[in-house]
Amino acid sequence: MPSLSRIRTIASALFSHPAHAAYLAPILVGIGYYLGAVLGVKASIMSEGIAILWPPNAFLLTALLLSPPRYWPAFACAIVPAEILADWPTFSIKQALMFAAVNILEAVLTAVFLKHSIGLPVKLDRLRHVALFGFFALVLASGLAALLGAAVYTATADGEVSYWANWRIWWFGDGLGLLIITPVLLSWFQPQIQDKPSPTAKRLPEAALLLVTTIAVGIWIFSQSEYLTNQFPISPMLLLPMTIWAAGRFGMRGAASINLLIAAISIYCTINQMGPFVSMQAADNVLRLQEYIAALALSSLTLAALLQELNLQNEQLKILERAIDAVNDGILIADARAKDNPIIYVNSGFEAITGYRGDEVKGRNPRFLQAGFDPAVLDRVRQAIAGRRQVRALLRNRRKDGSIFWNNIIIDPVCDDRGQVSHFIGIQHDITDIMETETALRSARDELAEINRDLEQRIEQRTRELQQANRKLEGLAATDPLTGAYNRRYFLTHAGEELERAIRHRRPLSVIAIDIDHFKLINDQHGHVTGDKILVALTETAKNALRPADIFARFGGEEFFILLPETLLDEAVNVAERLKARILELRVADVGFTVSIGIAPWADDTDIEPLLERADQALYAAKNQGRNCIRIAA
Ligand code: GH3
Ligand code: MG
Ligand code: MG
Repeated sequence: MPSLSRIRTIASALFSHPAHAAYLAPILVGIGYYLGAVLGVKASIMSEGIAILWPPNAFLLTALLLSPPRYWPAFACAIVPAEILADWPTFSIKQALMFAAVNILEAVLTAVFLKHSIGLPVKLDRLRHVALFGFFALVLASGLAALLGAAVYTATADGEVSYWANWRIWWFGDGLGLLIITPVLLSWFQPQIQDKPSPTAKRLPEAALLLVTTIAVGIWIFSQSEYLTNQFPISPMLLLPMTIWAAGRFGMRGAASINLLIAAISIYCTINQMGPFVSMQAADNVLRLQEYIAALALSSLTLAALLQELNLQNEQLKILERAIDAVNDGILIADARAKDNPIIYVNSGFEAITGYRGDEVKGRNPRFLQAGFDPAVLDRVRQAIAGRRQVRALLRNRRKDGSIFWNNIIIDPVCDDRGQVSHFIGIQHDITDIMETETALRSARDELAEINRDLEQRIEQRTRELQQANRKLEGLAATDPLTGAYNRRYFLTHAGEELERAIRHRRPLSVIAIDIDHFKLINDQHGHVTGDKILVALTETAKNALRPADIFARFGGEEFFILLPETLLDEAVNVAERLKARILELRVADVGFTVSIGIAPWADDTDIEPLLERADQALYAAKNQGRNCIRIAA
């Protein structure tokens, strides 16, 4: 119904704009009130002067509920002329003023009650709200206002009707007016929940069918003049399905509108002496009709609110379920009150991780997923469950297809309203990938460590080999290849160090020079090989005769030097003599030979060369003396 929604938009725009609301809203409410009052006074009063339904207060109440309290005085003022106009000429201005005051009181009382018990906006979309509205509008506010209204009526109007009869008439008429019309106005002036998912406009054919059916059935029932004598039992309760239809399919707006329609048809027909309520005394008829309308209206409004509440809860449940299903983790809920904590819910994440469908696992204890793991972990989980505590654990679980997955689970106890643990919620996080990566990483790390160890071993071996080679090289660089004696380079380096030590500590030191006599001749007579053997034999003999600290070196050809640390000249002479004697005893391939020896003790030399020079000179002196003898440097 686009035109209706446009009207509502315009109306709400008018009311919500402060400048417009200040003038337009009270005028509109005044007009509504006037029309309602004319209807109430002229149309719904039976010949006995009894009002069946008093509509105008609903306009005022709706205006009060839809606007802030600062507008309330303007609304109250607006209905005073409306009441006077509507009452004219049946009631005097004084009476009209008093009636207006009572009606204002009734609407304000209801509005205040509702505002405080429900809070604004009052939409009547909860069962509790409809119950409170029914109680305040139908019973309390109208009942209280009727006490004053009946007093005014009894005191000022002619007639034989008693105060309490007037009170009842006023009360029921006002209450019914509020009950039937306020929900219609509230639901059409405020957006409804049904507007959103499937607008009423989309179900227009169904709405039209409901409307036509209700009108047809209503007129059919209420136009029967011979109600009691009629063969076919036409009960006004046949309209109950219409209100249920309206409530179920069109919510509060549908229920309220159909209620108004039924009220209009039933009141119109009853006033015109038709339908099921005209058979008895007029006062009884009115009472029965009012009860009928009230019962129908209350039941359908209640149903509409209940369905709406259920829909809302359903919607929330669906959102909750969808949200839980949107989570990738597995979520399961187990009943803590039932024996062995059976699963009552699993989300689609659980189904995806485990491969089990929800109906396959419901009723079972979650332990069937276990695939054997650290008993200490399982024991910890069991103890936490028994103690109703939160627990986190890494479990080895088995999927439906038998494969293994690693389940990083958090289990939390869920409490009921009384704080007792009623359920457990388990959130499973499948960390198989992480575990696999970790295992791969660990094995890669192990492999790397192995390679490193291997490498280290190889390096160690290489180093050892290098050191050996170095030592060999050093040896080669320091020794003479033929005899194995130190060479000149080695001798000079170490003799220099020994000399420094001798200087530093003022210790003695001596040098011996040795040269084989007539070696050229030996070579010539016995061959070079024998010559070589003699060189080796001499070296052997010298090494055996010397101390480890002494340095024996071949300087070239058949010439040798010996450095004797910590050795005075006398001792050096002893060494030389011993050596000379041993050499004399040597026979190499039956060849004997002699040596000439020069000795030089350290004499404050700061360099090794002069010392060697002196030993050499002593050696020459020995040669000159006829060889095979020892000479000491001068
Ligand atoms: P002198 O008594 O004056 O020392 O006479 P000499 O013949 O020993 O002296 P000279 O210096 O004239 O001769 C040294 C000889 O030593 C010359 C050379 O043939 C020999 N000679 C040098 N090196 C070697 C060697 O490695 N092996 C052998 N078999 N002979 C060598
Ligand atoms: Mg010689
Ligand atoms: Mg020589």
